[in-house]
Amino acid sequence: MSDYVKDLLAEVKAKHPAEPEFHQAVMEVAESLSLLFEKHPEYKTAKVLERIIEPERILIFRVPWVDDQGEIHVNIGYRIEMNSAIGPYKGGLRFHPSVNLGILKFLAFEQVFKNSLTTLPMGGGKGGSDFDPKGKSDLKIMRFCQAFMSELFRHIGPDTDVPAGDIGVGGREIGYLFGTYKKLRNEFTGVLTGKGLNWGGSLIRPEATGYGAVYFAAEMLSTKGQTLEGKTCLVSGSGNVAQYTIEKLLELGAKPVTLSDSNGYIYDEQGIDREKLQYVMEMKNVRRGRIKEYTDKYKHAIYTPLDANMEFNPLWSHKAECAFPSATQNEINAKDAQNLLNNGVYVISEGANMPTTPDGVEIFLDNKILYGPGKAANAGGVATSGLEMAQNSMRLPWTRDEVDKRLQMIMHSIHKTCVDIADRFGTPGNYVNGANIGGFLKVADAMMDQGVV
Ligand code: NDP
Repeated sequence: MSDYVKDLLAEVKAKHPAEPEFHQAVMEVAESLSLLFEKHPEYKTAKVLERIIEPERILIFRVPWVDDQGEIHVNIGYRIEMNSAIGPYKGGLRFHPSVNLGILKFLAFEQVFKNSLTTLPMGGGKGGSDFDPKGKSDLKIMRFCQAFMSELFRHIGPDTDVPAGDIGVGGREIGYLFGTYKKLRNEFTGVLTGKGLNWGGSLIRPEATGYGAVYFAAEMLSTKGQTLEGKTCLVSGSGNVAQYTIEKLLELGAKPVTLSDSNGYIYDEQGIDREKLQYVMEMKNVRRGRIKEYTDKYKHAIYTPLDANMEFNPLWSHKAECAFPSATQNEINAKDAQNLLNNGVYVISEGANMPTTPDGVEIFLDNKILYGPGKAANAGGVATSGLEMAQNSMRLPWTRDEVDKRLQMIMHSIHKTCVDIADRFGTPGNYVNGANIGGFLKVADAMMDQGVV
């Protein structure tokens, strides 16, 4: 680690203690940017990174709500408006009991670079709540979403800040949030993305993050003259990103064999085919069940409960060529990373945000495998949110084919940026440097143009 990164990190830790995920995200970006600052000290002198690290604005608010039994609950609501140099703040809302300021700051920080890479004019933001939607009735979810938006509506707008979904926030929640915003503002605008198709949503938005992560893997493989056809793939999670990752993998002839949730994972050696995926989608999106139920229907599959005392996750120890972590941050540690390599994995495309710990990333980079970090590989979701915003502004929807073509073009362009920039800075094949420097440059130049504000 260079002295510059050491000093920067020490300052961030002193100013913002108890935010380990945020420190981790800053460290990773700062290490890549050291290469840029050697050639272009003007960015360092202008303290651009130091300015990006501090959110432009943080909103923290009380979310009191009454459930269907009349009991009162109090949650915390957050919105981090991180950076608006190249467009309105843009990024998802996460509803999960683990949500805290540090996690949302790491996500908002990553979002700035990711949004810049998409080629679209979007700044970075993130928000959410420590509310746990798991096992709650639709009525409870609606009441919470209404309470959350009854404060957030003051701070967002189609030209200011445009939230979307993330963990625990899907189409149902976006619907309740949008309905409340519309009522309070008396305005029908594109203030949220991930909307329903008949009220301003875009075709392919639900699919976009998963599809994009698979397109990114295909792009990485194409640099070696290979395709996904016939490749065995490990996928974690079983939510939005995991489901559409599997859908696209099947379309491209690959064989996905795992899925997980926070209780455990299933391994289906025969492959998760279209019919099994349909079953998972119904189970997760309609009945809101647990992944264990997969083995009730498909008896040959093996369910392994998560064991918090284990030093590694056995999901990452199956024979495969590709891995698509699509659940949450830090789900692959150094031991998992080594297990992946030992079992033949040489392509990793991160659907989740920062799913690999820094020592895990180091192992991937040292072994020079095709490693696509989240801020590049999962940018298809927010890119398609950007396309939803464009359609809302025009008040004209595009066809499925049109949106999918644009998504593919964007993933191609992100991949090219990563490869070109990694080459330019003397680290060919290093997608981490490519994504961090590529994402930084556009935002940094905009900030230099706009003065110290
Ligand atoms: P969902 O809520 O739809 O699904 C999340 C999945 O991950 C669930 O299967 C969930 O299991 C599992 N999971 C969540 N937290 C944990 C945990 N602590 N340990 C183990 N498993 C966990 O979310 P998404 O699919 O939308 O998001 C998944 C990842 O992708 C996140 O990192 C998100 O930030 C990232 N992402 C999402 C985008 C999107 O467009 N949705 C865009 C870009 C990135 P359980 O049901 O048990 O909680």
